[in-house]
Amino acid sequence: MFSYWEQKNFFNYDLIVIGSGFTGLSTAIHFKKDHPKASVLILEKGVFPTGASTKNAGFACFGSLTEILDDFWKMTPEEVFELVKRRYRGLRQIRKNFGDATLKYKPNHGYELLEAENAAAADQIREVNKLLKALFKKDVFSLVKKPQKFGFSDRIKFVVENKFEGELDPGAYLGALWEKASELGIRILTGVAVVEIQKEEGVVLAENLAKNRIFEFKAEKVAICTNAFSKKLWPESDLEPGRGLVLLSKPLAEKIPWKGSFHMDKGYVYFREIDGRLLLGGARNKDFEKEKTLEFETNPKIKAHLQNLAKEVIFPGRKLEWEMEWTGIMAFGPKKSPLIQTIGKRTAVAVRLGGMGVAIGWQVGKELSRLLSKM
Ligand SMILES: Cc1cc2nc3c(=O)[nH]c(=O)nc-3n(C[C@H](O)[C@H](O)[C@H](O)COP(=O)(O)OP(=O)(O)OC[C@H]3O[C@@H](n4cnc5c(N)ncnc54)[C@H](O)[C@@H]3O)c2cc1C
Repeated sequence: MFSYWEQKNFFNYDLIVIGSGFTGLSTAIHFKKDHPKASVLILEKGVFPTGASTKNAGFACFGSLTEILDDFWKMTPEEVFELVKRRYRGLRQIRKNFGDATLKYKPNHGYELLEAENAAAADQIREVNKLLKALFKKDVFSLVKKPQKFGFSDRIKFVVENKFEGELDPGAYLGALWEKASELGIRILTGVAVVEIQKEEGVVLAENLAKNRIFEFKAEKVAICTNAFSKKLWPESDLEPGRGLVLLSKPLAEKIPWKGSFHMDKGYVYFREIDGRLLLGGARNKDFEKEKTLEFETNPKIKAHLQNLAKEVIFPGRKLEWEMEWTGIMAFGPKKSPLIQTIGKRTAVAVRLGGMGVAIGWQVGKELSRLLSKM
């Protein structure tokens, strides 16, 4: 039973955004900036955002050398260029808007480890640099002259450096978005899961954590920003979930002889140093089918693979103890670009951010906000 005041003040909005990850918060912020008088509500099922945005590795990256080379099999050079451009611009925009100190951004460069089976990629550096010159004005990729300084095993034949990449704290970035949204007067309700949307009417049905009460909200416009979890609200979509595992070691006794964000295996494996610890994640390509899931569980096969890589390749001969692990779920589909489209008279979505949400989330939110403004 709701009071007259509750019904009058808490249920009707100009825009309701579902999901408070990078995309949802960015969408709400851009919309509110363009329409200061609009009432905007965000509904988030977690007590705080619990999607990929707070589970990721914090790489401020736009594609490793082998990842870009791999893209050439499925895309034209122009499409590959546009993809990199969108990601790099996205990174520059969040740094400009929130500042490096707030994001805990470190310009420590990106690196890729090449083993014998992908060492041929080193021969294509010049060609990829040529393609990207129009955007970066300088060479993006180069070979590290003395890779032995990193202390990796001799399985690593080359280390490729990318001086335009960095790393940040994704929780700090999310926190900054959250604060900006609050400053602008955007309401955020957490612990409320949306269970149904009537796309043409703008009706949003949500239930509380105890699942004992349904709330019927209404909006002029509805934005679905639930990424991997969108299938329930948009069953016709061809989104595929992809789980990612992250392991975090205890602080190492000796100093780590490198810094930066490192990739291996066409970008499927990634690692960085954080607070004297090793953060290591990925490898869903070692069990692709099982990782197409929305369950936040650890796949033992992938965990063992990552732990072996740490022992045999990253820190050969060093003692390493693990302290934490977690999983997060991304959304993929037939194309690498995000899906930003209307799916009803009053409803639009922005989903499928793949493994690049740090770079593109803000811009995707801007594009969804523009689309909503035109509806
Ligand atoms: C392990 C891992 C490592 C990654 N590493 C990187 C990296 O280093 N760099 C990079 O750029 N990207 C990385 N990514 C990808 C990046 O995190 C995502 O692309 C990005 O976070 C997607 O943001 P989003 O806002 O679209 O989705 P999400 O962050 O998933 O947000 C969706 C939100 O919707 C909420 N929600 C879901 N269903 C409902 C519902 N029914 N009602 C209400 N709320 C709901 C969820 O709780 C969640 O908070 C990684 C991802 C993972 C999983």
